[in-house]
Amino acid sequence: MATQPKLTPKLSIDRLVVELMALAQITEVEPPAVTRVVFGEADVRARAYVKGLCAAAGLTVSEDAVGNTFARWQGSDPTLAPIGTGSHIDAIPNAGLYDGCVGVLGGLEAIRVLQQLGFKPRRSIELVIFTAEEPTRFGIGCLGSRMMAGLLTPVQALALRDKEGRGLEELRAQAGFSESLDSVQVPSGRFHQFIELHIEQGPFLEQEGIDLGLVTHIAAPASQRIVIEGEGGHAGGRLMPGRKDALAAAAELILALESAAKSTGVIDTVGTVGICEVFPSAVNSVPSRVLMTTDVRDIDGTRRDSVLAEFVAAIQEVSKRRGVKIATELINADPPTTCDPAILAALEASATAAGKSFKKMVSRAYHDSSLVSSIAPVAMLFIPCRGGVSHRPDEYASPQWIGSGVHVLARTLALLAEK
Ligand SMILES: [Zn+2]
Repeated sequence: MATQPKLTPKLSIDRLVVELMALAQITEVEPPAVTRVVFGEADVRARAYVKGLCAAAGLTVSEDAVGNTFARWQGSDPTLAPIGTGSHIDAIPNAGLYDGCVGVLGGLEAIRVLQQLGFKPRRSIELVIFTAEEPTRFGIGCLGSRMMAGLLTPVQALALRDKEGRGLEELRAQAGFSESLDSVQVPSGRFHQFIELHIEQGPFLEQEGIDLGLVTHIAAPASQRIVIEGEGGHAGGRLMPGRKDALAAAAELILALESAAKSTGVIDTVGTVGICEVFPSAVNSVPSRVLMTTDVRDIDGTRRDSVLAEFVAAIQEVSKRRGVKIATELINADPPTTCDPAILAALEASATAAGKSFKKMVSRAYHDSSLVSSIAPVAMLFIPCRGGVSHRPDEYASPQWIGSGVHVLARTLALLAEK
């Protein structure tokens, strides 16, 4: 491990908090709730605000065809791949102001602090604002980073529709992005390394009074849409023998998923049925059809797949025994991410030098870093959030927590940019 750069970042946390609050005012709903759906009017204004701050810091700002935004601090050797940092500024309906934005504005503050110290990076340092980390509009998360990594092709992206039936082509053009989507994918090695600062979105750091979480693994969901077709009929007239009740079959499957997820005996395996729609949903009618979704996550892809295999076996058994038709459609199955040991070592050295407490932990939520990991080594740095609350207007991270994160991020960027 290289020695720590001789710098003691003096953060302007006041400035950063003012900027976070200003960004939070750009919302489709009444503050303090934040709603910024990709390519909506608030999203476009928020992009302009952040780009303005980046330009004011002397960074070179560029955008790709899907709106991923890059703000580059040129290093002394521009031929080297840059160190990337960043996150997202889109927000689900009725969200808070820290998810994603702490990683974007905190990344900018880390760069500004290094600039003020007179630090000159050898590698460029590049702040990235990813388009549509949240799946609100198109039903698929991490749209921008997914396309950058080549994990969603332009053809697949063009087929996406929002609830009103509008496509990506129309919506991105409205937001000012019209270049060919073929240009969005970047080669492996586009970033030398990538770090994402983010709120934990869980309760552990606050509960344990720890400043920072160094994320070693990011769990990934495999999700499916499942349609069960049984036979409906009058709740009185249809006698129990020979019933093909779609909801009774769904109930068995929900319990089968729970049991499969528990059977690994590992705390990192989780399985959830989050949607279960019953047709015709009448008190005196046998359910004829059920639509449900499954979400299975783990930090170990093989173990996650074994849970899915057990669940598939249950589907076949229930379908046969109950005489119902069960169709499954895979929504996504991204691989879990193992974070880069070299970045983690730099984060650890930086946290120690900064006198901050930290623990290694797993991210159970999904982030842009998961997608970036297929084109560059990644790691994430978590700060606490009050009560573990996120995706709500009362989401909160204290200036002190944010300050610790930005301080260690700045030191780490300085370390990595020297190599
Ligand atoms: Zn986020």
